Amino acid sequence: MMTPNKEDYLKIIFELGGTEHKVTNKQIMNSLQISAPSVSEMMTKLLKDDYIVHVPYKGVQLTEKGENKASILVRKHRLWEVFLVKKLEFPWNEVHEEAEVLEHVTSRELANKLDKFLDYPKTCPHGGVIPSDHGQFPEKNNLSLVHFGKLKEIRIKRVLDDKELLDYLSSLEIKVGQVYTVKEYGIYEGPITLEHDRKEKQISYKAASNIFVEEI
Ligand SMILES: [Zn+2]
Repeated sequence: MMTPNKEDYLKIIFELGGTEHKVTNKQIMNSLQISAPSVSEMMTKLLKDDYIVHVPYKGVQLTEKGENKASILVRKHRLWEVFLVKKLEFPWNEVHEEAEVLEHVTSRELANKLDKFLDYPKTCPHGGVIPSDHGQFPEKNNLSLVHFGKLKEIRIKRVLDDKELLDYLSSLEIKVGQVYTVKEYGIYEGPITLEHDRKEKQISYKAASNIFVEEI
């Protein structure tokens, strides 16, 4: 992956739920797979530009300006993903890179035409809500799998748009919409055991922290 730029950071904070609650540097590090000093450095820049607010020991949250900027990018990114999967039959784990490039050359008008052409999809292939053309559309389902209690029944609502994560989930046949019971949390951020239909699957803590679920 190329060194993430300012826009990538805004998008990741948005995806990690930064429109509603604080996102920690550790979460950003995990998701973008970069070092702590790079994250801090970029956070200083985003603070100076009024894209985020920072609460000591809690993390960062998007300002209205940050949320607007992120949601415009996320809208274009997710519309292209829907197009690639639905119309060009790309698998869901292979659209991120393409959408990453396309979002930067997409005008507002093109995004709106694409939206109409696709019949106004609500979510991307990874379960992310597609923001509307006029402003914010907060991401829902922001609670990750690592925050759930043992023996809870959950449905996977959304997974982070990340090639490695998607490849990993595909290899385990884990998809958006599936229902599992959380059987076991490994100690010290160990693997998490999910069960469905008497079959167990183990996923790493890192992957689980980028899988967003709802309790059912
Ligand atoms: Zn997506």
